[in-house]
Amino acid sequence: MSGPLRLTFLQSASRADQLPESPVEVAFVGRSNVGKSSLVNALANRKQLARVSNTPGRTQLINLFEVAGSRTDPGTLVDLPGYGFAKASKSITRDWPEMIEGYLLGRDSLAMVYVLVDGAIGPTKLDEQMLEWLRYHGVPHTVVATKFDKVKPSKRATRRKELAAGCRLDPGDIVWASATKGDGIDVLRSLVRTWVG
Ligand code: GDP
Repeated sequence: MSGPLRLTFLQSASRADQLPESPVEVAFVGRSNVGKSSLVNALANRKQLARVSNTPGRTQLINLFEVAGSRTDPGTLVDLPGYGFAKASKSITRDWPEMIEGYLLGRDSLAMVYVLVDGAIGPTKLDEQMLEWLRYHGVPHTVVATKFDKVKPSKRATRRKELAAGCRLDPGDIVWASATKGDGIDVLRSLVRTWVG
C-alpha cells in the first residue's frame, strides 16, 4: 500500500502508563520545534491532525494515533512531547525524562523510534544525548532529519555528512524529509509501514 498514512487520533495522555495496549507501535520524538507535528501531518497528508505550534514547548502531551492499513490489528503511532524547551513549565521539564524514558524502555509493543533532528541546524547536544541514551539501552531507532528545504542545495552534501557525523551514523542511515516541500515523505511512509498500517 502507498499514499498517506491513515491516522486516526485516539487520545492524548499526560503519562505513558495511561496509554492503551497496542499490538505494535512506532514513536516520534525530537526537541521542541524540530518539525514533528508538521511531519506527522505530512505523513497523513492532513493539515491539523497534529497541532503545529509557533509557541514551542506547548505540546507537552503524548498523542496517540491509530494507523489503519491492511493488517488485521491496526498499529499505533505515538507523538511524544518535544524535549528540551526551557520555557515549558518547570514540572513538565522535570517530568519529561522520567515519563518518556519509562515509555521508551517499558513499552513492549514499541517497534521503532523515529528521532527527529533539525536538518538545518542539528544535531543539538540534547539530540546527541538522546541518541546516546537510545543506543546505550538498545532501543531501535532511526534518525529523520527535518526541514530539508531549509538547507541550500549547494550545502546539502556537506550538511548530510555533518549531520550524520554528529549523530555518529553513516549518511545513508539518515532519512531526510521536508514536511513543507514533501521530500522524503514517501520514503518515511514506507519505513513506518514496515511496522504499522
Ligand atoms: P514541533 O514543535 O516539533 O511539533 O514542530 P512544528 O511542526 O510545530 O514546527 C515548528 C516550526 O517549524 C513551524 O514554524 C513549522 O512551520 C516549521 N517547519 C516544520 N517543518 C518544516 C519543514 O519541513 N520546512 C520548513 N521550512 N519549516 C518547517
